Amino acid sequence: MKITAIRTFLMQAGPTRSGKPNAASAPGLDASDTKLPGSRNWLFVKIDTDAGITGIGECSGWPRILQTAIQDLTPLLIGEDPMHIERIAQKIQVAIMAHGSLGTVGGGVLTGIDMALWDIKGKALNTPVWNLLGGKLRDAVAIYTHANSAEFALSARDRGFKVIKCAGGGGIEEPVRKVAALREALGYDVDIAVDLHGPPWLTPVDAARLARALEPYELLWLEDPISPDNIDGYERVRDATSIPLAAGERVSGVFGERELIVRGLVDIIQPDTGRAGGISQMKKIAALAEAHHVMVAPHSGSLGPVAEYAALHLMASIPNAMVLERIEDDWEGRARTIVPHPVQKDGALPVPNGPGLGCDIDEEFVARYPSHGNLSIPAGAKASDGSSPLYVKSKLQRGRFFSADGNNRSN
Ligand SMILES: [Mg+2]
Repeated sequence: MKITAIRTFLMQAGPTRSGKPNAASAPGLDASDTKLPGSRNWLFVKIDTDAGITGIGECSGWPRILQTAIQDLTPLLIGEDPMHIERIAQKIQVAIMAHGSLGTVGGGVLTGIDMALWDIKGKALNTPVWNLLGGKLRDAVAIYTHANSAEFALSARDRGFKVIKCAGGGGIEEPVRKVAALREALGYDVDIAVDLHGPPWLTPVDAARLARALEPYELLWLEDPISPDNIDGYERVRDATSIPLAAGERVSGVFGERELIVRGLVDIIQPDTGRAGGISQMKKIAALAEAHHVMVAPHSGSLGPVAEYAALHLMASIPNAMVLERIEDDWEGRARTIVPHPVQKDGALPVPNGPGLGCDIDEEFVARYPSHGNLSIPAGAKASDGSSPLYVKSKLQRGRFFSADGNNRSN
């Protein structure tokens, strides 16, 4: 079998930062809105073969750039036997060496191709990908959703979710107040995780202070308490709190996740199935984590519906699978993009049983949502004090950062 063509499908997925519809074809679109960056893009990859089998994959990690990267790589891959997945992955890594280390862009491009190759292999052998990964340990994979209010958390619980996650920004008092309200509403039937999103302006001592204040609420984990650039800082946070730590969404490959795992800096590793380097790298990361008694809870901040299928196959096959992130209510177009759309039941998604990944995209629907941009903040965005956003921030008037009245004594 030989690879004959590689096709990409880029779409703007989800509302733009203004909250308005994002597609040129969407009724009621404000034309000026198209200038705003969207909250996310999804890039799907299809690899065609001379056997008539087509594999599908997905990559994130700046999808608009990845589309061009895949076009660059295409001549390299035409004529390759798609069954030799690791050989192709090694070839790609050598081909992109001149651009630097793998990173999330390199990891993203590797992901889309690797995922499509696993899909081809499964279809060629008429078996699900999980069967090629060692078989199934479970028939459904636990998932969690996001909830930042007691009202939404209760509705998630009533829909079957047993784990929710909330954002923990805003100093000390605000996140503690939020988590206290969630815990009071939910009791202990539902696990609560808190994501601090790795802000570079939260130093290890700040994060440790917040962690200690959150300890009475028995969190499932505290996620990205400090910048992922500050690996050594994780040691200080870990030593200061009894809350399990989770991280890993912003790096890729087994080399990228290695330090967090082998140094015992996290209890839960969170590779992003869309940019960690594909099913192959996810399997290696999971094995390394298993050897260090670390659980796996894949990230889904940019995760589209094909990558979600890949995560389900992986989670079905690894012993240390914990729970999969799903921003379930992000955009109604998610269900229209993927065929079939996995439906949550009792806080879990069923493990697919079709050959390969067992899914396809609706190409016509995807084409209706062209990409308009993809940044974390819109042009002209300002910090809360009206200044330009800074990645590295000092905290003069430190009391005000931690407390609205500057007199916080919450821990
Ligand atoms: Mg996160």
